[in-house]
Amino acid sequence: MRKLAAGNWKMNGTGDDLDQVTRLITAFSGTQRADIVICAPATLVHRMAEIAAGSSVQVGGQDCHPKAAGAHTGDVSAAMLREAGADYVILGHSERRSDHRETDLMVRAKVLAAVAERLVPIVCVGETLAEREAGRTLEVVGGQLDGSLPGELPGDIGIGDVVVAYEPVWAIGTGLTATTAQIAEVHGFIRDRLLAAYGLDGEAMRILYGGSVKPGNAAAIFAVPHVDGALVGGASMTANDFGPIVTALINA
Ligand code: PEP
Repeated sequence: MRKLAAGNWKMNGTGDDLDQVTRLITAFSGTQRADIVICAPATLVHRMAEIAAGSSVQVGGQDCHPKAAGAHTGDVSAAMLREAGADYVILGHSERRSDHRETDLMVRAKVLAAVAERLVPIVCVGETLAEREAGRTLEVVGGQLDGSLPGELPGDIGIGDVVVAYEPVWAIGTGLTATTAQIAEVHGFIRDRLLAAYGLDGEAMRILYGGSVKPGNAAAIFAVPHVDGALVGGASMTANDFGPIVTALINA
């Protein structure tokens, strides 16, 4: 399975930050051993994709609307992301689930919209601290998987191409990282759930860990079974931080 290092710039970055992408492209030119993606704010997708064209770095969006077009002020469709040059899109990030009250049902509709435009969805799941402390982590993650992933997909992106990101909400942007034991438990659980739902395709689906991944903890996280890469927020904003994370993944 090809590993995946995905960066999430969130609502950060202007044209001045694009040189970080250029540095990343230079550092990993010719890299065939992992997929490298930066999920940019909508305003930068097109420019970033132009810079990254033909390189080992790909570009993604951070959300898309479930509909193809229409009266949805402020939203971006999957077709718009595709036209701008995106190959991936993050869906159901916990910040979208909390800031915009996105439900599993909405995320599932977005997954269908994304694959219709041949965008690879990175579907995020993860428990809050209160849910973990109540012993509900696996129940919550299982429910999000069941609700957010479609049974089967039309079009030329199969369910095996869909990416799942396990992101404990309490570890995102906090500097707190799940322990390797906690990651192993949840990733093993997700793999079993995907196998039960999709058979062999479930074996091919990449499961990323996200939550304060940094150069200093990346190698230990990538050594955990069923961790097929990372979704990285803060540390994806500079090549100095993201580069060593990509290298750790390639060497894992
Ligand atoms: C994220 O944005 O998905 C994320 C995991 O952020 P951070 O790496 O900053 O915790």
